[in-house]
Amino acid sequence: MNSHPTISDETRFQSDFKILNFINGEFAQPFSNEFLANENPATAERYSWVSKSGPADVTRAVQAAKDAFSKWSKLPAIERSKFLMKMATCLRARQDEFAFAESIDSGKPLSLAKEVDIPRSQKNLEFFADEILKWTPEKFQSLESKNEVIHSPLGVVACISPWNLPLYLFTWKIAPALAAGNTVVAKPSEMTPMTAQMLCEVAQEVGLPPGVFNVIHGFGSDIGPTLCQHPDVKAITFTGSTATGKLISEMTAGSFKKVSLEMGGKNATIIFADADLESAVTTTLRSSFSNQGQICLCSSRILVEASIYEKFKTELLVRIKNLKQGDPLLPTTNQGAVVSQAHMKKVLGFIETAKATNGTILCGGKRLNRPGYFIEPTLIEGLPPYSTLNQDEIFGPVATMIPFTTTEEAIEISNGTKYGLSASVWTLDTVKAEYVARELQTGIVWINTWMTRDLRTPFGGVKQSGVGREGGRYALEFMTEMKTVCRID
Ligand code: NAD
Repeated sequence: MNSHPTISDETRFQSDFKILNFINGEFAQPFSNEFLANENPATAERYSWVSKSGPADVTRAVQAAKDAFSKWSKLPAIERSKFLMKMATCLRARQDEFAFAESIDSGKPLSLAKEVDIPRSQKNLEFFADEILKWTPEKFQSLESKNEVIHSPLGVVACISPWNLPLYLFTWKIAPALAAGNTVVAKPSEMTPMTAQMLCEVAQEVGLPPGVFNVIHGFGSDIGPTLCQHPDVKAITFTGSTATGKLISEMTAGSFKKVSLEMGGKNATIIFADADLESAVTTTLRSSFSNQGQICLCSSRILVEASIYEKFKTELLVRIKNLKQGDPLLPTTNQGAVVSQAHMKKVLGFIETAKATNGTILCGGKRLNRPGYFIEPTLIEGLPPYSTLNQDEIFGPVATMIPFTTTEEAIEISNGTKYGLSASVWTLDTVKAEYVARELQTGIVWINTWMTRDLRTPFGGVKQSGVGREGGRYALEFMTEMKTVCRID
């Protein structure tokens, strides 16, 4: 039996529910008193309203965070850790409700929200609650001196997150910021604000001190400039598109704030003829189409060695055609809706470009004939590596296939975009796999796997995919300032 609520029995899923800002421990109307429609992408119906905040709301939230900093930063790490653990426990207690909300808000299959988004959000809180306790100061001793590296929290940190993995990426930023002793003003995507609202309820439930964690909703263009340029905001951690990352970089240039940018990708999966074909096909299906292809790490370019190209294509097409698309709430559904009408139009536009430039649509290629923003999982071949479809981030259920004949050619095609987030390499030849991994210009390379994550490892992109690293002590280093204390005894 499903234990999640239904749209009709939960106030928050009824059309007059208002998602409010969370400032100084309390829910607050935006100064504008204006709200944006919040849609369910699987029905194209508005099901709630979200605060349309502006500069005055940001100023209020930053002030609350600034006022709370002194006490929070002075709490022993163990006490901050306990708060994060309590939040994780509350999240677990409400996991079905959170998963349901994430699915309604984003169009993703409920099963995915249950298996991935919500457990990982909980894990983010637990992981940094634990990591902060394990983080010991580095010491350097010489004949002359004893040196210790002390890490101090920064102050107010702005955490800006996208819509594709709403609570997962929201908590991935908030948890290290709070664990390290900072206070937070967070800005979730205006398209998927519901689980951020629910996390504020959790913060209240566990008695997180007022002002430690604040949330401002609304358009990034209304909020972003004030938040990013506020003199009391000491660091900005952003995940989203390269275009917005560039804006943030420009807005903060010369301020010498710490800025971490996790941005777009155009990831390649490279499948060599000596790969375990079964695992490669099964995982490529997942890596290209999970969450309707709306994961920054999705492989949107599938590079296959020419000698197995046709075989791989046939196998992959069988699996794609077996995907069940439709109502995200059904347990059998594994392809839901894309996040919005605007995003659907953008993705369909790429498919039209593929057709117009002699690409062959091997499957899919159309919007589903039902309400909501559904696009069939689409596989395309016949486009050169430097074509639009193989260069621009599509961020939807669309992947291209490209044949290659040599290892060097595969590396060149893979590296031949402005992005550099992730790549997967499929081969049973360990030496070749390690060589290719070293040559690829990305922040992470998976060998014979995809999206396997040890949260202690550095995560981020190179080129236009990112600046800085998140994860483990790399996130904690970003969230703190280092000071060397040198003494002679
Ligand atoms: P987006 O850049 O449109 O928005 C991201 C966030 O930035 C949202 O909260 C938005 O409101 C805010 N924002 C918008 N304009 C702003 C401004 N001027 N100032 C400050 N904030 C502003 O991205 P999106 O469409 O929500 O997300 C999809 C993108 O995110 C894709 O490009 C995807 O690759 C990327 N992404 C990257 C990673 C990663 O780890 N590298 C992870 C997930 C998603």
